[in-house]
Amino acid sequence: MKSEKAVVVLSGGQDSTTCLAQAVRDYGRGNVACITFQYGQRHGAEVEVAKKIAALFGVTEHKIIGLDWYNQITTNALLDSGIAISKVDTAACPNTIVDGRNMMFLLVAAIYAKSLGIHDIITGVCETDFSGYPDCRDVFIKSCNVTLNLAMAYEFRVVTPLMFLTKAETWALAERLGVMQVVAEQTLTCYNGVAGSGCGTCPSCVLRQRGYEAYLKSKEA
Ligand code: ZN
Repeated sequence: MKSEKAVVVLSGGQDSTTCLAQAVRDYGRGNVACITFQYGQRHGAEVEVAKKIAALFGVTEHKIIGLDWYNQITTNALLDSGIAISKVDTAACPNTIVDGRNMMFLLVAAIYAKSLGIHDIITGVCETDFSGYPDCRDVFIKSCNVTLNLAMAYEFRVVTPLMFLTKAETWALAERLGVMQVVAEQTLTCYNGVAGSGCGTCPSCVLRQRGYEAYLKSKEA
């Protein structure tokens, strides 16, 4: 077990929940803090799910940060329920993209981490099943890490355990961590705010289902 501590950016979705499970295993639950953002996303239920999941893993240090000004300066289908979410395969970049989101999250998470004397910041971003989100790419994370260090004259380490995993491999990781059931039944990735297996039709649910099926197939092999 590592002696350091870590801040996990927790959305309550499959990826960040898997990261949290790994962090609790690697750092110990008493050494893990979580941060969750309320930024006007259409499913505000996300925050309640994140609270439940943090509690389930025994993490008591959980900061909920409001970024409710976000939709005053940019809009998209994730923040505005009046805009229909475009389908998975039709556009290079889905219209659920929130400009600058991961940079904003990492900046706030870093400020929080530094205030606690923590260096490691864990985020579940992943570039493998690249949906066209530029701020999920490894090159962005590495650049952001350098910028955060310079901004605060502090040695942060932005850790991305899922960066090069496929969705199927993320399911396999959840199984190895013994949290398959929690991830399958309690997390919320659906754009329509349906926890667990989701609505089944939104792009996020389609991706999640594809990943799950690929994982089941890989188990048979
Ligand atoms: Zn859905």
